[in-house]
Amino acid sequence: MASDAAETGNLQSLLTQLGAGLDDYLKFDHPDALHPSKRWREHLNQALPREGIGIQGVVAELVQQIIPNGSAVPRPGFCSFITTGATTASTLASTAASVASPQRYGLTAFNFLEALSLEWLAEMFGLKSVQGVYSSGGSVANLLALGAARQSAFERIGRDPAADGVDRRVAIYASTEAHHTIQRSAGVLGLGRRAVRPIACDARGRMRVDALQRALDEDARSGILPMAIVANAGTTNTGAIDPLQGIAELAHARGVWFHVDGAYGLPGILDERVAPLYAGLERADSVIVDPHKWLGASVGVAATFVRDRELLQRAFTQEPAHYLEGAVEQSGSTAPILEHSLDDFGVPYYDLGVELSAPARGVVVWALLREIGVAGIKARVERHNEMAAYVAQAAREHPNLELLQEPTLSICCFRYVAANVSDLDLLNQRLHRRLIRGNQNLPSTTRVNGHLALRPCFIGARSELSHARDLVADVLRLGSELAA
Ligand SMILES: *Cc1c(COP(=O)(O)O)cnc(C)c1O
Repeated sequence: MASDAAETGNLQSLLTQLGAGLDDYLKFDHPDALHPSKRWREHLNQALPREGIGIQGVVAELVQQIIPNGSAVPRPGFCSFITTGATTASTLASTAASVASPQRYGLTAFNFLEALSLEWLAEMFGLKSVQGVYSSGGSVANLLALGAARQSAFERIGRDPAADGVDRRVAIYASTEAHHTIQRSAGVLGLGRRAVRPIACDARGRMRVDALQRALDEDARSGILPMAIVANAGTTNTGAIDPLQGIAELAHARGVWFHVDGAYGLPGILDERVAPLYAGLERADSVIVDPHKWLGASVGVAATFVRDRELLQRAFTQEPAHYLEGAVEQSGSTAPILEHSLDDFGVPYYDLGVELSAPARGVVVWALLREIGVAGIKARVERHNEMAAYVAQAAREHPNLELLQEPTLSICCFRYVAANVSDLDLLNQRLHRRLIRGNQNLPSTTRVNGHLALRPCFIGARSELSHARDLVADVLRLGSELAA
């Protein structure tokens, strides 16, 4: 019978076995998990184990049954949605954290790296005089930023919304292309999803500043409190960057909180060809970025930056609890606090957001920056933007392709066209299904200005220009087969 007694000292050999299984997986020469010959579900679908199979049994099942039937997301040709596989450095760092720092608090090296890596991110993206906090993803990062915005807007009229709730209608202004986590944040914050005012975009998916101004004017006449303006630095759909400078000017003139959602696109600022589009970012009151997107962190790492973290603390603090204050009386003591006192929690990240127990995430960001530096991240961002530009150029030049949106970052929306086919949406839908079945080049689809588009989003650390070329070749081959 397997017991807990073996919980010591055999990580080295177990991780070696696991590593071999993961290396095999990363060769991507196994059929995908949806393949009809794959019978993993029958194997795994077992009753609650009354007796354990022991750690060797667990490793064997992980390596033989589970890892090879994992997700297609880490594939170099995967370019759907905005998600990617962790780089090796992130995998190692998150493994290390799960063993050596199950929590981010305490005066440990891990807690220190939370702060240091947040400073590194801010510096890399040109954010000055900001303070950050990590959370699980862009959804929560936006929630925290908007929680700070709510706190700021209500404190100005002499109220504490975190303690007392909200007593009047507010509006959050975000473009029709904004991520829907903005609406959810408004719901969670007690403002109501309908507090989000959809602002029209131009034909390239960028918020129209004139439409924003009109909405602000209208609401001012109706006595609605303007709580925040949300701008996109890289929309999820097409990678468009809103006119940050114009929006910042309007936000400042009206005294409204200016939030920039850079979950996907903030790292684009490292590419000098598009960096000018980020002018105005420096005037933001809050900014978010997802290291688990373009930076290749293991999933569960986002950062929110604000100018004044005390606003976050007032918005999200827990009521004081005796188990957090420490058992040892420190007041009145003149003795220096012991460096390794368990009563010292380091930076109290648990009071700046909505999580108490949370993994150490800074070490993941630290690892990926230590490994390849800003230069390595910049080269990756430039490569991915060039891949989108390559697809755009091919779509402009080939008579059977049509570019549906000029790319800004690493997303390119295009479609297959044929003179003899009238329903191009259906043709591209079928083409997309065939592509996915091939399990090599995996873009998503979206709608752009009324048309169904193939939408590669290049963000994987393992994807290269050759994958953009393969994708275009695949689309042309499948398109001509289907149109024949
Ligand atoms: C992905 C994304 C989000 C949500 O982030 P998660 O990490 O998936 O929670 C928010 N905003 C934008 C612009 C995004 O691309």
